[in-house]
Amino acid sequence: MTLKELSSEVKADLRNYFENRDYMVIAVPKKEPVRVYTLRATSAVETARRIHALSPGATVAMGRAMVAALLLTSLVKHASEQKVLLKIEGDGPIGSINVEADGKGRVRGFVSNPQVETYVKEVNGKKKIDVGKIVGSKGTLSVVKELRLGTPYMSVVPLVSGEIGEDLAYYYFQSEQIPVAVSVGVLVDKDGTVLHAGGLLVETMKGTSREAVDKLEERMFNLKPITDMMQEGKRPENITSEILDGLSPMLVGLKEIEYFCPCTEEIALRSFKSLPKEEVRELLSEGKVELTCKFCGRVYKFSEELLE
Ligand code: ZN
Repeated sequence: MTLKELSSEVKADLRNYFENRDYMVIAVPKKEPVRVYTLRATSAVETARRIHALSPGATVAMGRAMVAALLLTSLVKHASEQKVLLKIEGDGPIGSINVEADGKGRVRGFVSNPQVETYVKEVNGKKKIDVGKIVGSKGTLSVVKELRLGTPYMSVVPLVSGEIGEDLAYYYFQSEQIPVAVSVGVLVDKDGTVLHAGGLLVETMKGTSREAVDKLEERMFNLKPITDMMQEGKRPENITSEILDGLSPMLVGLKEIEYFCPCTEEIALRSFKSLPKEEVRELLSEGKVELTCKFCGRVYKFSEELLE
């Protein structure tokens, strides 16, 4: 692990390198066993909105889940073969939300009702999209960790509020025994396009000094919603510095983030062939065989010859 001070020079480099692309910054204080993950996923969530024709309410709910899944990759190593599957099944009108993210920052997903109504609520006199109502507060959040070797590890917790950030914090505490502070947020424009999407997670491990814990707790408590900070022009590295101010923040990792679906004709064909033989025959007798990838909407067409 290489440690690099998160200096203003490094921050300028990050800004020049990533510009408007999405990425995650992983940082630690020099002397405390704490990890901070901060990410921007604005383009990735906008891509999801366009692929699935999401309503504003669905964009915010699915976008938050995408950010949550990307944060959950803190639980797997950086190898591309390892991934995290996040499924949120609440009693709200969106139905289930399914998202996958891997150690390389690639994310994809789908929801059962992309056109869900955009419920709003008033918070401190401001209209906000009511994610809790869209997702529902009764249900489950499940996480599957697919490691390269061995069987996948699955863990399920009940939903706390359906707001996703709180639910994720509860998952970490309940299933991983890791106390975390989490913030996930998506802000959409009037026409539904994504203005900002991002998240942060602060993990405090055993051995963190009381002083550092107090400092971090106070900061997290006073921290503005992540989309407000992004609106002010703050980037992941700036938000990280703010959280770790006075604790000598060191940069330990960077990851580019993108909406990516690795589906191919070969994979689609394989899954088609795995259907029961009679079903395959029946579909072929109807003439057209089309398979649509539920993650990216790509359509694969098969002819009889291909199936021989
Ligand atoms: Zn696909």
